[in-house]
Amino acid sequence: MGLLSCVVPLLLCGAAPLEAAPAKSSYLPGTGRFWHITDLHLDPTYHLTPDPTKVCSSSKGVPATNPGVFGDFLCDSPYRLIQSAFDHMATLTKPDDFIIWTGDSPPHVPAGELSTDLVVQVIENMTETIRQHFPNIAVYPALGNHDYWPQDQMPTSTNAVYRAAAELWRPWLQNEALLTLSQGGFYSQLVKPGLRVVSLNTILYYGPNKVTENMTDPAGQFEWLEKTLQKAARSLEKVYIIAHVPVGYLPWARRTTALREKHNERLVSIFRKHSDVIAGHFYGHTHRDSIMVLLDQQGKPVNSLFVSPAVTPIKSLLQPYSNNPAFRMYLYDTEDFSMQDIWQYFLNLTEANERQSAAWRREYVLREAFGLADLKPLSLLKLGLSFMEQSTAFDSYFKHFMVGYDSSVTCGGACKISQVCAMLYLDQLAYSRCVEKGGRGGIHLRGHFLNISHEKGLRVSKLSRL
Ligand SMILES: [Zn+2]
Ligand SMILES: [Zn+2]
Repeated sequence: MGLLSCVVPLLLCGAAPLEAAPAKSSYLPGTGRFWHITDLHLDPTYHLTPDPTKVCSSSKGVPATNPGVFGDFLCDSPYRLIQSAFDHMATLTKPDDFIIWTGDSPPHVPAGELSTDLVVQVIENMTETIRQHFPNIAVYPALGNHDYWPQDQMPTSTNAVYRAAAELWRPWLQNEALLTLSQGGFYSQLVKPGLRVVSLNTILYYGPNKVTENMTDPAGQFEWLEKTLQKAARSLEKVYIIAHVPVGYLPWARRTTALREKHNERLVSIFRKHSDVIAGHFYGHTHRDSIMVLLDQQGKPVNSLFVSPAVTPIKSLLQPYSNNPAFRMYLYDTEDFSMQDIWQYFLNLTEANERQSAAWRREYVLREAFGLADLKPLSLLKLGLSFMEQSTAFDSYFKHFMVGYDSSVTCGGACKISQVCAMLYLDQLAYSRCVEKGGRGGIHLRGHFLNISHEKGLRVSKLSRL
């Protein structure tokens, strides 16, 4: 494995300047690390062929415009892309690292092209691929809306997929976690003394899931979550929340929660109530790179939330942009488990296909990119509030949002308001106030957070029509 190929110091391991360790290196004592991979979306049908409509099932008959060995922006991931991501990641891992894996292994194809058996086979393939690359590293998975057949329809009781996941993930999880996983698709497990991962099945709250539409507490997960957080607090533990579909609003849309609105409200209120015990939230599903800040009802920032971009580069024909394939590493404080930094990695897909070689590189280091002292909720709130005033910082945030997909795509005006409101307001009342005030919902905050003036000259971009 690559573990030995890149022993300390990291500075010697990468020739390119982008691989050099940032000023505040992870090798300082008191810093721990973990990796986040999400939305692998393996398309086993991907292959290079003269007929562009036949490159991958996930393009659904649309001609793949630029297919290469590492994929196409109209297709889900070829196996080779996923392998190249893990090969690179393996050279960077250290024995004490762990991995969070927030779901969505199967491809975006019509329901008729999949089955429960095929979905389980893809999850098994991805599980084995991860285990081969990282045989000695703990992995904490969460289920995604595509990790079921038919997609999104996750039930509230045991079924073939939850049971298969519990069996496949047995080497990583303890019995108590395996039991709730096989029953409801969620679990909690102690990572190390003082740190617990809570893996939620947010597909139970996902709008397209018809099974749970009229339920107040599907699978009893809300009650279980509250009890788990209370118990963690009593045991003086900190909790990392991991899940596939994020809480809050979609950053590219207007007034659209990622989860069903009533379940989003309930989740926000539970997270607010127990924010002291939660040291971070980590999600996937949107395929894009974004940050959120949970404010309490008085407007005080209480939690930092991170949405990681996907490994799959897929977009639909009409979408104006996609994301380059990506994974990331988090640095955390081993005393209080607060987040210290993010190292975001990516593959320039076009370049990799041209060169027939996958040069994964570091895209940015979060604190350096925005001059942040830390990733505490207050720092991220200040960053979000500054976006309405400062286009340079926001433009760089939006470039990261697309993982450098296309620098000619910009986000101003209504697009920027949607991004900023989704970043800072996770509940219906505060979010609505923010969009009504053109991205300035923050005015209800105590003035000392930031002085907010009125924006002049809204730019209208292609994205504002979305
Ligand atoms: Zn996905
Ligand atoms: Zn998803």
